[in-house]
Amino acid sequence: MAPMTAAGERMHELVRRLYPLCRSITGDGVRATLDIVGEYIPLRVHEVPTGTQVLDWTVPQEWNIRDAYIADAAGGRVVDFAESSLHVLGYSLPVSATMPLAELRAHLHTLPDQPSLVPYRTSYYQPDWGFCLSQETLDALPDGEYEVRIDSTLADGHLTYAEHVIPGRVADEVIVSCHVCHPSLANDNLAGIAVAVFLARALAEEKPHYTYRFLFAPGTIGAITWLARNRERVERVRHGLVLACAGDRGELTYKRSRRGDAEIDRVMRHVLGTSERPHRINEFTPYGYDERQFCSPGFDLGVGSLSRTPYAGYPEYHTSGDNPDFVTAEAMADTLAVCREAFAVLDRNRRYLNLSPHGEPQLGRRGLYESLGGRSDAKQAQMAMLWVLSLSDGEHGLLDVAERSGLPFDTVAAAADALHGAGLIKA
Ligand code: ZN
Repeated sequence: MAPMTAAGERMHELVRRLYPLCRSITGDGVRATLDIVGEYIPLRVHEVPTGTQVLDWTVPQEWNIRDAYIADAAGGRVVDFAESSLHVLGYSLPVSATMPLAELRAHLHTLPDQPSLVPYRTSYYQPDWGFCLSQETLDALPDGEYEVRIDSTLADGHLTYAEHVIPGRVADEVIVSCHVCHPSLANDNLAGIAVAVFLARALAEEKPHYTYRFLFAPGTIGAITWLARNRERVERVRHGLVLACAGDRGELTYKRSRRGDAEIDRVMRHVLGTSERPHRINEFTPYGYDERQFCSPGFDLGVGSLSRTPYAGYPEYHTSGDNPDFVTAEAMADTLAVCREAFAVLDRNRRYLNLSPHGEPQLGRRGLYESLGGRSDAKQAQMAMLWVLSLSDGEHGLLDVAERSGLPFDTVAAAADALHGAGLIKA
C-alpha cells in the first residue's frame, strides 16, 4: 500500500472513531474529541470560563447531554439520541414531559425534501429544545401521547479548545485551524480534523522553517476566543489555512484570503495550478468557516481556506448523509498531499540577493554546470539558475521566479540552493 493511501486509511479510521461523539461549541463532546486527537499528536488544551469577554462576544454556558429520546405510549423509543447525536437540537434545554404529537411537532425538525435524512440543527444563543428526525420517521408516527426527555445541562462551565505547535527555525507562524463543534458529521468537521492531525505529524518530521500552530476549536466562538487571547501572537502569524469539508469526493476548492494576493493565496494557486488536479479557486466572502475571523479587517491575516466541495455545496451538508461513508480515504489523502505540497513551497519561498549582479556570473568556473551533468532536467536546472540570478534583486522570491519562468518550484528551489552553496546569492 502506498504511504499516502495508508495515511488515508488512518485518517478514515480517525473519522470513524470521532463520528459518534456529540460535539458542540462547548462541553464534554469537545473534550472527548480532543482526548482522541491527543493520542495522535500532543495537545495543549485550554479551558476558558463561561462569561469571559472575547472580542465582541462572551463565552457561553457549557452544554452537556447524557441521553434524549421520544418514546411512544408503549415505551418504545421512536427517536433515540443513543443512535445518533444529530437527533437532538444542539444546546437543547432539559425537558421531561408527555405531550400529544400535535404539540410536539413544534419541536421537531425534519427535511421534507430529503425525507430519509436527519437534519443537523442548533440553537446556541436562543434558549430552546428540540429533536431532529427524518421526515419518513415523522410520517410513520401515529397520533397520540409521547414521552419526551432530554437529559442535558446548560450551566456555567468552560469553552474548550486545543493547540499543537511545531517549532520552526523562526518564530513567525503559520496557523492551521479546523472546527471541532459539529456532532456526527464527517466531512463538515471530522475530515478537516483528520487532515490537520496527519499534516501536523508530517510537518514535525520535516523540521520546518516556520513555526506551525494547529488550532482545534469550535467554529466562530473558538476562533474569536483564540484571537482575543493571543493579540500579541497574532503579530507573528504570517500565513494560515482553514481546513473544512476536506474529505468528500468532489474537486478541491481554495478560497482566497480577504487580501486576495496574500502569499498563501499565491502558493495555493501555484500548487493547484501546476498539479493535474481539477480544482476551483474562489474569491473571499465574509461567510464560511474561521477565515471570517482571521481575515476580519482588524486582523487581516493572510489566511485562506481549503475544502473539497465547499459548505452547503452538497446535498448531504448538515444532514445524516454526511457520515463516514460520505468521505473517503483517497480524498483525505489527496487533501493532505496538497497541504504538504503547499506548505513545502510556503516554507521554502524566500527572497535572495544576487551577490554578483553586474553581468552574468561565470557558472562553469564555479562547477555549477558540472553539478548538472547527467541530470535529465539539466537544461531546466540551468535555466532555473539563470532565472534565480536574474530575479534575485531582493524584491522577488522563489515563487515569483517559478511563476515568471514557468519552471517547477522544486527546480527553482534546488537552483537557489546550488547558487547559495557557490556563494552567488544570499538570503
Ligand atoms: Zn457546518
